[in-house]
Amino acid sequence: MSSITTLALPKKALIAMGLGSTDMIHYQLSPEELTEQTLHRREGVLNDTGALVINTGEFTGRCPNEKFTVMDTLTESTINWNEFNIPIEPIYFEQVYDKMMDYFSDREIWIRDCYACADKKYRVKIRVLNENPWSNLFAYNMFIRPEEHELENFEPDWQIIQAPNFKADPKVDGTHQHNFIMVSFSKRTILIGGTGYTGEMKKGIFSILNYILPHDKSVLSMHCSANVGEKDDTAIFFGLSGTGKTTLSADPKRYLIGDDEHGWTANNIFNFEGGCYAKVINLREEQEPEIYNAIRSGALVENVCFYEDSFTIDFSNKDITENTRVSYPLDYISNAIEPSIANTPKSIFFLTCDAYGVFPPISKLTPQQAMYQFISGYTAKVAGTETGIKEPKSTFSACFGAPFLPLHPAFYANMLGKKIQEHNVNVWMINTGWSGGPYGTGKRMKLDYTRAMITAALEEKLTNVSFEEHPVFGMMIPMQCPGVPAEILNPRNTWNDKDAYDKMAKNLAQQFIKNFEKYSGGVSNEILSAAPKV
Ligand code: ATP
Ligand code: MN
Repeated sequence: MSSITTLALPKKALIAMGLGSTDMIHYQLSPEELTEQTLHRREGVLNDTGALVINTGEFTGRCPNEKFTVMDTLTESTINWNEFNIPIEPIYFEQVYDKMMDYFSDREIWIRDCYACADKKYRVKIRVLNENPWSNLFAYNMFIRPEEHELENFEPDWQIIQAPNFKADPKVDGTHQHNFIMVSFSKRTILIGGTGYTGEMKKGIFSILNYILPHDKSVLSMHCSANVGEKDDTAIFFGLSGTGKTTLSADPKRYLIGDDEHGWTANNIFNFEGGCYAKVINLREEQEPEIYNAIRSGALVENVCFYEDSFTIDFSNKDITENTRVSYPLDYISNAIEPSIANTPKSIFFLTCDAYGVFPPISKLTPQQAMYQFISGYTAKVAGTETGIKEPKSTFSACFGAPFLPLHPAFYANMLGKKIQEHNVNVWMINTGWSGGPYGTGKRMKLDYTRAMITAALEEKLTNVSFEEHPVFGMMIPMQCPGVPAEILNPRNTWNDKDAYDKMAKNLAQQFIKNFEKYSGGVSNEILSAAPKV
């Protein structure tokens, strides 16, 4: 084990937080110490490759319906109040804040100072307070790790106060139930209680950055992964949960920038985070070696089961959840570059996991189609990341990230549209979902084929092939692609029953049109003309 240096949080800061007794406070512990303490508290075990395996408890996914945003003079007219931006009165926030600080006053507490945003110009200083060591290890893995000398005068911009065992009382605290996320932009604090799902911390910060960066700094914030090749040809991959952002950004031939959250400035893109949070369901070394090999000492694995009488993870086991995860620092991926900053993207990929088997596995979008698809944000959610979803189900989620967007989708869409035009960016639609029929009949696209299609697009191997237009959705489908059998490129060819395909395509098109009705007033005719034709 590495030598342990004990850093102390300035007394001043503790008093300001209302935490008097220093002996209960663990400040800025190393991953080794946090792992050791978790084992000692019997809150986790090591798997056979040395990673810490824990169980997040009652919740194994995010609860977007339990996230509240304080409505006050700062937010009242700027936040797009909807089912994901649920208003709560300041008085409830104050009350729950006081209760949580009181809760922590006689408990051990783990505190970590860290950053979000790799580009120093946009850096946000974060202080995380946790009630257990493994939640704090998650913060170490996922946020950007400051140098020791940067801690001396660390004045946090934002705080996360997270206590899985602290339960709200919905009768008096303004919540729906015992678990909650409460965000106050005025107090610059995120409260998380009643849930141990670590992902709430990273997506909490993502949500506030989705306000601060576009609204105050003119930086487009994006729910996307990013990587860059030898030729500085940055690519970004938008997509909802389970569509392949993390999997497809870990590409041995390219340098990883980040797997989930990025900003796009006038001159670059940058990662918000310092780590990756990968799904591990059915993980296989041959298919995803970078992620598989990141599961080692320092990594935090959540909600997996072991093979009997062993500490070998059974990645196929869904007994606890399908949403099994691992978090690890970016440098656990050997070709990640730090700082995680890259040039303006040359290519954008929209990832969808189409459970209907209608979308082509790869197709080219016009700028107008790109805007239409971005605003629509179509996918079929794959089981488990959100509580209550066990079957694939089609979803439209604006900008491929509606639960994390405090502002109106048009705000982000307009910024992206301008950037696509200005930089002449190629936009591709990738269906990582079903082929040969819908969920139940068809099969999910082979990962190797999806990778080959993305490589072909990036290496400009699809510039001189012929394309055919999709009769309903209008995207252009390449007729050949290196490394991929030509007969799977047009989805209709993969269905035995062609009438069934046509019907399904029409049905999906109707769902798109119905979903888009709510935006029709606010978008240009050009974008509206990119709607599917029924
Ligand atoms: P989140 O936002 O929740 O982190 P994500 O977009 O990063 O989601 P991934 O973690 O990349 O999603 O999950 C994609 C999952 O789908 C992985 O488990 C991967 O193995 C699996 N998969 C199967 N087939 C494909 C395919 N053709 N392309 C991409 N991923 C595939
Ligand atoms: Mn991911």
